[in-house]
Amino acid sequence: MALKNFEVIIVGAGVTGTALAYELARYTDISSIGIIEKYEGIATLNSCGTSNSQTIHVGDIETNYTLEKASITKRTAKMVEKYCLQHHYQNDIIFSHQKMALGVGKKEVEFLLHRYEEFSELFPYLEVWDKERLKELEPRVVFDENGDERRDEIVGIGTNGQWTTVDYQKLAKSFVENAKKESDTEIELFLNTQVLTIEKSKKRGYVVKTKDDTFYADFVVVDAGAHSLLLAHQMGFGLNLGCLPVAGSFYMTNEKMLNGKVYMVQNPKLPFAALHGDPDILADGNTRFGPTALLLPKLERYKSGTYLDFIKTLRFDKNIAIALWKLFKESDIRSYIFRNFLFEVPILNKYLFLKDARKIVPSLKSNEFKYAKGFGGVRPQVLNKDQQKLLLGEASIYTGEGLIFNMTPSPGATSCLGNAERDLRYIVKYLGKNFDEEKFKDELTEGEYCALPEPIASQKAMVNLIRAEIQRTEEKYFKSVHEGKPESHFWDKPHSKI
Ligand SMILES: Cc1cc2nc3c(=O)[nH]c(=O)nc-3n(C[C@H](O)[C@H](O)[C@H](O)COP(=O)(O)OP(=O)(O)OC[C@H]3O[C@@H](n4cnc5c(N)ncnc54)[C@H](O)[C@@H]3O)c2cc1C
Repeated sequence: MALKNFEVIIVGAGVTGTALAYELARYTDISSIGIIEKYEGIATLNSCGTSNSQTIHVGDIETNYTLEKASITKRTAKMVEKYCLQHHYQNDIIFSHQKMALGVGKKEVEFLLHRYEEFSELFPYLEVWDKERLKELEPRVVFDENGDERRDEIVGIGTNGQWTTVDYQKLAKSFVENAKKESDTEIELFLNTQVLTIEKSKKRGYVVKTKDDTFYADFVVVDAGAHSLLLAHQMGFGLNLGCLPVAGSFYMTNEKMLNGKVYMVQNPKLPFAALHGDPDILADGNTRFGPTALLLPKLERYKSGTYLDFIKTLRFDKNIAIALWKLFKESDIRSYIFRNFLFEVPILNKYLFLKDARKIVPSLKSNEFKYAKGFGGVRPQVLNKDQQKLLLGEASIYTGEGLIFNMTPSPGATSCLGNAERDLRYIVKYLGKNFDEEKFKDELTEGEYCALPEPIASQKAMVNLIRAEIQRTEEKYFKSVHEGKPESHFWDKPHSKI
């Protein structure tokens, strides 16, 4: 059956696609938007609260973020906060917990204290909590199983009273609800509708085909997670990229063990985020530890199939083999990947995980937690064939022809409104539409954040070494791919052929 033409079609109703629908409806004069989602509901995959850590990654306690990255994530994270407060979603969609980065041992303590100095201009609310203060705020990080104080030096750099936690599935649902309230824009959501192909129309725009229907659009944005790359490949775009799905699992405690979020100091040689403990808003605040990082030969967790899709998006060849070889030849990464694989092996996993999690809660016992079955999702990481390496940043392919493909691994939920802003600017320019930037800035942003041009020079050689290693890992792995990013002349005039 042929259906009508939309100005913009968004493929995928996760938090990324729905955030874009909201921004287009509220801040532009685009008048019709179709959202096509293959499952029965909004945000049932990675944006679902059980799939991710529910964290707003601001960059204050994430020790793998450089100052520069933190100043970018702070801006986009604040957009989520401002949106939620504007709509009065406190304690329904957005929650406030205590949070901290915990340093254990002399080296980490020293590192965190220096990081505190370096980041305090960007995050003036951060506090330093010593062992005595931690006994009051987060006692389980201090005492061992005999009730004695742990012997290691520890420090927490943290805060109380910030918005820290989001139910991203509810957030995505609210985006659609609020977009529908914009009377000048018609929003249609098609559930249980899988996009099979996208073709360039002979007349204008695109023909989007599903099993039963055909849709038409002047502009298409594919926000379908790992499947964005599959659809891009089908159309001959992004053939130099492959997708490596990195799943994340969690372990759940039987009780509310931690009062807030406790993040550990990142091993500077590992590009994957360190283990953390978080109060789970969907499990009465019980503590959820994780995520692990497991290489999985499928694109979707806890859904049938997608093995074949994985093979198609990997596009295995010599360059992919070299990229994987480069990854595995680093001993820290190799043993991390192997250990994370063992985290999935029943019985053994509890023993191994206990060892790691005791760095956060030294008194933790194996009968106090279990593998969180059904929790966790997949981070679609990109392998760049030209560079023969894994890139852990986000990936966007701008075709320059009214079509964008996005893949948004962590912290993609935090950046949903920021990524939507980026695409919105492109779409309105391409279609010759208007963007109410003043209203947008007023409602969703607090302005830009300045970061110190240079980190505070430290006399401590060890701190500088860790800092340099973090910088190296950032440069090596955290490159984003923005293929076809528009040249400056793109912004001069509308580009659609309409
Ligand atoms: C273990 C883990 C922990 C994480 N923790 C955090 C965190 O604490 N904070 C944070 O900010 N981020 C976190 N992330 C990342 C975050 O979950 C993702 O970046 C975010 O959910 C991506 O949203 P999305 O809408 O792009 O993708 P998804 O939520 O995966 O949505 C994509 C949608 O596209 C649909 N789709 C796919 N193919 C088709 C098709 N052919 N036709 C129609 N629809 C299609 C899917 O059904 C799905 O609904 C975490 C991720 C993982 C895996």
